[in-house]
Amino acid sequence: MTEALYGRRCATHELSTGDLARMSALEDSFRAASRMESSLRALCIKTHFIHVTDGAQGRISQTQREDQIAVLNAAYAPTGISFAYDEDMVVEVDNPDFYRMGHGSLRERNCKTLHQVDDPQKCLNFYTAAPGGGLLGWATFPYMMEGDPAMDGVVMLDGTLPGGTAAPYNLGATAVHEVGHWLGLYHTFQGGCVPPGDDVADTPAHSGPNYGKPSDSDQPHNLCPTAPAGVLCPIHNYMNYVDDDWMNEFTEGQIERIWAQIGMFRSGLLTADNRGEAEAAFASAVSW
Ligand SMILES: [Zn+2]
Repeated sequence: MTEALYGRRCATHELSTGDLARMSALEDSFRAASRMESSLRALCIKTHFIHVTDGAQGRISQTQREDQIAVLNAAYAPTGISFAYDEDMVVEVDNPDFYRMGHGSLRERNCKTLHQVDDPQKCLNFYTAAPGGGLLGWATFPYMMEGDPAMDGVVMLDGTLPGGTAAPYNLGATAVHEVGHWLGLYHTFQGGCVPPGDDVADTPAHSGPNYGKPSDSDQPHNLCPTAPAGVLCPIHNYMNYVDDDWMNEFTEGQIERIWAQIGMFRSGLLTADNRGEAEAAFASAVSW
């Protein structure tokens, strides 16, 4: 029943094999040139909620916003990244057409162009709406921002926020997943069993998404046959498709990816506290 209602967790654009290879080479050269010390890896991302509604449909409460930020902060704690928002800056847009925006649609572009709160180089624009089609949300990748800043951010099905109606996807983990894309992560099943997969060494390749609550004792699930013995399918990773209460992990490799992507494409997020040293470390930033 639930999977029929919410058939696709995520509509985030999939990179082609060529684009993946190009990004991988860029990241390698960035890492080789970067002097970003792990002690500098602390960042608070200003988050702006833009709630698109159709009258009473789609309204989000202050408690839901606070709970969503708390879920993001708990999930991203191992990365050194936190999130904060200002209740006075919350935007509500009552527009039945925008409320039903589809991924990549003119409605999406018009809505974002009109209602983006702040410069996407410095913050996260977090939209809620009801796209339909079983979609839980989508995000733009970091490399997309420079060429198309108006579209930057995440769009979430309103029912996915904590306390929402999209059970079992209503504990806030969909936002953790979409913000993962927004910070440069791919799905753990990216490319299926075709190398380089998600190009993260410690998330073993698996042939497709896992749903529900796959058993820990039933490994290796759909792990690709090339995996060494003893390796486990990443069934608790935030970048898989399992239920919200089954997701609890970003790997070290994913955290490395996030920081490289921030360095390459989102260095405007860095706060005044660490800007000086971090900018020097990022001076070698390359462009896509
Ligand atoms: Zn996704």
